[in-house]
Amino acid sequence: MGKTAQQVDLVRNEPRYSHLATPSLALVQKQSPDYSSSHALLHPQHSNISFAVRPDRSVSYFDPVTSLPNRNHIFGALDEMIVSGVDDCAVLFVDLDNFRRINNSFGHEKGDSLLLAAGRRLQRFVTDQEWIVGRFGGDEFVVVVHGKRDRTTLNALAEQLVLELAYPHQFEGLSVSVTASIGIACFPGDATEAGELIQYAHTAMYAAKGMGGQGYRHFRQNMAAHAAESLLIEGRLRQALESNEFSLVFQPIARAGSNEIHIVEALLRWTNNRNEIVDPDQFIPVAEESGLIRDIGRWVLQEACQQASQWRRTRATPIVVSVNASPLQLANPKFCDDVQAAMDAAGLPPDLLVIEMTERMMVEEDAITSANIRRLTEMGVRVALDDFGTGYSSLSYLTRYQIQSIKIDRSFIGNIEFDLRARALVQAIIGIGKSLDVRMVAEGVESQGQAAVLESLGCDYLQGYLIGRPVSAEAL
Ligand code: C2E
Ligand code: CA
Ligand code: CA
Repeated sequence: MGKTAQQVDLVRNEPRYSHLATPSLALVQKQSPDYSSSHALLHPQHSNISFAVRPDRSVSYFDPVTSLPNRNHIFGALDEMIVSGVDDCAVLFVDLDNFRRINNSFGHEKGDSLLLAAGRRLQRFVTDQEWIVGRFGGDEFVVVVHGKRDRTTLNALAEQLVLELAYPHQFEGLSVSVTASIGIACFPGDATEAGELIQYAHTAMYAAKGMGGQGYRHFRQNMAAHAAESLLIEGRLRQALESNEFSLVFQPIARAGSNEIHIVEALLRWTNNRNEIVDPDQFIPVAEESGLIRDIGRWVLQEACQQASQWRRTRATPIVVSVNASPLQLANPKFCDDVQAAMDAAGLPPDLLVIEMTERMMVEEDAITSANIRRLTEMGVRVALDDFGTGYSSLSYLTRYQIQSIKIDRSFIGNIEFDLRARALVQAIIGIGKSLDVRMVAEGVESQGQAAVLESLGCDYLQGYLIGRPVSAEAL
């Protein structure tokens, strides 16, 4: 426990961002690559081991941005560790979620500084000599831990890494947080060869991303097929838009205590060329990583506005459509133009549209996102804060922006019937919303009991299988 507190402290006491541009002394000392000595520095208890293949000195072994060992170095050291007869080791492949967004919003120079900061946080985890921390490339880091560790210990470690990396960075008056996904592969259980271990950890990392990011997964053999699949997904997604393979389903949101439905959430579905319906959790992360989410998101906006406009013409009471926007979309200076164009094309008044922005936004306050949120409000489009309680964003969010509703993440709702603490937490969240005059929506309401509790706590709206599953526009 003492160790954990100390690590957290170190991160919290991180120098301001401007200082981070100067790598710490400990890191700088590695800049003239002497492979054997640096190898000793990484795991001195094996310092008598030399590399079987003499390293080519024209090749750099350190990453210039973070000064951490680079891909070649990690690979070599891991290989060496295995060849030298290590009993057990684990490879943790760490990938920052949506890092592209940082580069797009702040530029590459700031992106690099953030990578440096992330590398330093990982480096601080090196509590003993049994570690290697390196930058594999882009926004990817690899942590190798040797010595026997059971699954529970590795889980605790991965959880800690995820937590430390997500803690917001302070710079230039902004609070920026980047979450990470981690994949874990173990020697000798999962693989016995360095390349394979890294590859499998990478595969497991993708599985963690597929679960929505900000988490970790252990490698499993059946993931390999899945990984190949997600590579294919990217290629297929590009064609999916042109081939009309996307559709929207709509999930009702009811006013608490009544059956009255006048808001629905639009949820994306992809029917692939094998006629299988793919859920958004499987392809949205791929679309975000590849930047395709912008085009897909624009399509969703257009389609949702058309549908709302049709309901307005054909129904006695109009239906408000709530559309999910990815952080990447919100960080695009053209986002509000897209929203306006979609409303104009459909002839939809702005009070029939809500934009849901996830609380798991990577950048709490980048200038473009802020401007977009303000402009949406000026345009008369309401903004909802989605997945509330799952991210790191501060409550000041709520006063800084004109957010009209908060959607309490379904992970909080599951236990409220029988767990008094869970209920107290939801009560507190609803209290915050009330005092700010924000409408509260509970997600994932599945039972009558949950609905009754939420109603008694003063929750305004309910969404979940109890009210209705997502269905096609015709079935609504
Ligand atoms: P979300 O915004 O939190 O949407 C709610 C998800 O919870 C939906 O899953 C919905 O089917 C599911 N759900 C609703 N009620 C219940 C319930 O009572 N119990 C349980 N267990 N689940 C319930 P879905 O449709 O698979 O969407 C998953 C996520 O994908 C969404 O989470 C949203 O973050 C993202 N997404 C969906 N459509 C879009 C889109 O058009 N654009 C973007 N950027 N993201 C989207
Ligand atoms: Ca949503
Ligand atoms: Ca949600």
